[in-house]
Amino acid sequence: METAQTKPLAGKTAFVTGGAQGIGEAICRKLALLGAAVVVNDLRRTDAAEKLLDSLAASGVKAGMVCFDVSNEEAVEAGIAEAIKEYGPIDILVNNAGISLDSLLIRTKADDWHKTLNVNLTGSFYCARACAKSMIKARCGRIINISSVIGAMGNAGQVSYSASKAGLMGLTKTLARELGSRGITVNAVAPGFIKTQMTAALSGEHAEKLVEQIPLNCLGEAEDVAEAVAFLASPAARYITGQVLGVNGGMYM
Ligand code: NAD
Repeated sequence: METAQTKPLAGKTAFVTGGAQGIGEAICRKLALLGAAVVVNDLRRTDAAEKLLDSLAASGVKAGMVCFDVSNEEAVEAGIAEAIKEYGPIDILVNNAGISLDSLLIRTKADDWHKTLNVNLTGSFYCARACAKSMIKARCGRIINISSVIGAMGNAGQVSYSASKAGLMGLTKTLARELGSRGITVNAVAPGFIKTQMTAALSGEHAEKLVEQIPLNCLGEAEDVAEAVAFLASPAARYITGQVLGVNGGMYM
């Protein structure tokens, strides 16, 4: 039997950027499992996205997809307006879309710097602004930004990525202060190293060295991040805002 405990997000609509694969996909699946209708955003309707939408539909979840590039201001405004028209006001926004164009400072091209900041940070600002209007009207909402452990501790060779993810932490805290009185919580989840396509390029030796720095002795799974997001989206987290929740196996405390 479905109860408020098994389906705490029943009646809510979640919008997950970059939701077609990896951590975003796991977040879509988890929020759907908890009863939310899910709107998946990504750049394209890939085979992976089709598979996700089919499996959500097969389990009786109201789900759809709106494709746009989060770094394109007009596309974000139009895409979120389309999502609200089709699926109703967005209660939960997860800013997950992200890229990493890694290089050392002196090799970092301005173009790569701007691209990374535009997707990871500016894209989250565009999406939060577009969703906040209806959240303010409803006097409730959840915004969850996917930052990174690298935003807190830095990492040689990840110049633009670390800056973008640190920026997300500042954005999270400011939005939490601005929107708290409107019943909207804003938090960040900062994953450590998680097994997805983004980290698939780590070589065997490099991966081994990384694991040595992690007290829990392994890389994380996308589902570990999804669990943290689901908690912050749930009624159980009603009094938590402006926080950065690390999901990193203890590699940064
Ligand atoms: P991923 O590359 O597997 O997935 C990212 C998704 O975002 C892809 O589906 C991609 O198409 C989409 N995307 C990229 N640019 C976009 C844009 N401009 N507009 C819309 N969608 C876009 O990566 P992942 O590992 O699942 O990472 C998801 C998030 O988690 C990212 O923000 C990443 O920085 C963060 N993160 C990942 C790790 C990790 O170890 N994998 C660690 C810390 C933080």
